[in-house]
Amino acid sequence: MSDETTRPVLPLFTNLTRKGLLDWCDSHGVPSYRADQIRQWIFGKRVNDFSEMHDVPAAVRKQLSEEFDFWACRIVRHQVSSDRTEKLLLELREGDLVECVLMRETDRATVCISTQVGCGMGCIFCASGLDGVKRNLSTGEILEQVLRIDRLLGKEERITNVVVMGMGEPLANLRSLLPALDTLNEKGGMGLGARRITISTVGLPEKMRELARHGTPYNLAVSLHAPEDSLRTEIVPTNKRTGIAAILEASEEYFQITGRRVTYEYVLLAGRNDGPEQAKQLAILLRYHAAHVNLIPMNPVAPIDLTAPAEPRTKMFVEMLEHGGVNVTVRKRKGADIDAACGQLRLTELTLEK
Ligand code: SAH
Repeated sequence: MSDETTRPVLPLFTNLTRKGLLDWCDSHGVPSYRADQIRQWIFGKRVNDFSEMHDVPAAVRKQLSEEFDFWACRIVRHQVSSDRTEKLLLELREGDLVECVLMRETDRATVCISTQVGCGMGCIFCASGLDGVKRNLSTGEILEQVLRIDRLLGKEERITNVVVMGMGEPLANLRSLLPALDTLNEKGGMGLGARRITISTVGLPEKMRELARHGTPYNLAVSLHAPEDSLRTEIVPTNKRTGIAAILEASEEYFQITGRRVTYEYVLLAGRNDGPEQAKQLAILLRYHAAHVNLIPMNPVAPIDLTAPAEPRTKMFVEMLEHGGVNVTVRKRKGADIDAACGQLRLTELTLEK
């Protein structure tokens, strides 16, 4: 970090799971109840440093600060939208940028987090994949996004939902993601119910099965974007390796194992996948899956020549799906005045740097 140039980079504290912290306590002669006490300061009481953990003995706090960094990143930008959406651009220790967003509704405060620097999936409408994937985020770097947003909230305000819909393909980084989500889910962590946590994937069947076997019934959303393989492969290049049928099969298994129905996301791209033919095909494809479709009008991304359809065409698409017996909602736009779509704030920053 630029303001701590003399301090060496230490392991990140939030990379420790509860079990990891218990082991640390054990090996340092610290009673095990201190582990939950320390975690309570971080996840419940919103401290920004070990020194603020007042009921932890000074010697333990000192030991912790000598062995660990409390934060991994520096806040480069904090933007607040007219609809009270807030967005943080975070600079990681080697200078990589990631972003996270807070979206508010009357009874909800949802955080959207990233799992990778960049993205390797290459969906043609998405800002995050323009330069490919650079690396996976660590567990602590994923958790830190939620913790940083949590510290922006008012005293009585609480995070109610987390969506893993920021930069990156979450199922390509399950090894770091699952301990982070489990910490959000744990009672001594953020205590968020599994149904309040949603993972969005491009649709990697093997990884969907692995997630189902993990045993915590997180919500899963699959980014479908097309009702048949040739169009989907044009829009979502990884489809060439998977195909829609295998994804739907894995979704069905996810439901069987977890009891959670998979949601399908569908970004509406004017003239590409928003016609009556696609609406009809999509309704037929999903009719027997009792599926919910979340339509997302394309958020403009500067270098990409694709746009959202006009309102009447979106309405037609919705009505045709409803007519075909499919449950459908259209995603509300939030934070449009602060670069809403995933990867955009980082993109603006990287473009300015060039
Ligand atoms: N890689 C994962 C999660 C990140 S993207 C996935 O593919 O689902 C999260 C959601 O935002 C996806 O449904 C994605 O298709 C959508 N998205 C990305 N860029 C967008 C844009 N410019 N406009 C609208 N939605 C976008």
